[in-house]
Amino acid sequence: SKVKVAINGFGTIGKRVAIAINKQDDMVVSGIVKIKPDYNALFAKRMGMNIYTIDKEDANEFKKKGIEVYGTIEDLIKESDIIVDATPDGVGENYKKLYNKYGINSIFQGGEEANIADISFNALCNYDEAYGKKSIRVVSCNTTGLLRSICALSNLSKIEKVNAVLIRRGADPQEIKKGPINSIVLNPVGLPSHHALDVKTVIPWINISTAAVVVPTTLMHVHHVTIRFSNKVEKNDILEALMNSPRIILVDSAISGIQSTSQIIDSARLSKERGDINELVVFKDSITVDDNEVQFFQAVHQESIVVPENIDAIRASLELSSKMESINKTDKKLGINK
Ligand code: NAD
Repeated sequence: SKVKVAINGFGTIGKRVAIAINKQDDMVVSGIVKIKPDYNALFAKRMGMNIYTIDKEDANEFKKKGIEVYGTIEDLIKESDIIVDATPDGVGENYKKLYNKYGINSIFQGGEEANIADISFNALCNYDEAYGKKSIRVVSCNTTGLLRSICALSNLSKIEKVNAVLIRRGADPQEIKKGPINSIVLNPVGLPSHHALDVKTVIPWINISTAAVVVPTTLMHVHHVTIRFSNKVEKNDILEALMNSPRIILVDSAISGIQSTSQIIDSARLSKERGDINELVVFKDSITVDDNEVQFFQAVHQESIVVPENIDAIRASLELSSKMESINKTDKKLGINK
């Protein structure tokens, strides 16, 4: 029988994870927790997902809009094997006690402090260490992007240092009150940015520094990454390692003409559900090797890169599959291609 997964928070990440769960053959969404009867709640209803509220009284507002409520978050937890918390940054912390009270396994997101869970997670980098852990934190979109390329290249030669500059999107497309709308914001001014520390929550052995700016766009993040190895590396080996790694796609600008995030998203809209890109996108033509150092550009679709990681985190926590079995299953069901 399928593992029952509860979802708390049905926003950018929560709804995508819910849709992805229902595509797997070993798990199913048992219900979602909503606080407002908005368009996302109407969508969940249409998808046949059972809706739960935080308090009993909240249900009235849903009923007024014709949305049936199946109970409270506590009722949902009792019926579920694991809960994915995709509430806003820092809010998951408030629910930790409730999850612990019922002894339910939990998956948190990157907006929470690392100490919220037993382990911070990226499937390629540390699936085996997360196996059987009661609570797992899937790191943020930027950290996931950095970890994908670093772990894919870490077998080539010892990595001495990673330096990355992150050009971050200002808001997700539906966020009407976030900015900037006319600025490049140093975020933070003091270096390194927290992303370096966040990468270390998954691979503590890495020597990494990051800097980040926020710009007025909603589509994707772009990183410029420099990796220095202890030995000389060959461009072909870099290419092969990236191509052979799951969840990384190389964009060939010379062939496709793609040199921007808007063109990546436009092309994704032709072939991918919602135009989501679960893969890390590396610009093949940017990969430049100088002796023991490689530099390249990569792009991260912030709304969807962590979706497959959440699926694998569920399997790792509940000991459903081994690492490559889980990654391959997830990728096949989500149409993640190489
Ligand atoms: P979001 O604001 O799009 O969605 C959050 C959802 O939680 C909304 O449905 C909201 O109504 C609901 N919610 C708000 N307060 C709640 C509460 N007290 N109890 C229950 N539900 C509540 O947020 P998001 O962008 O999906 O982010 C969720 C988590 O995922 C954060 O930790 C974030 O850092 C992380 N994350 C976000 C992105 C991204 O780019 N959007 C990428 C990777 C990771």
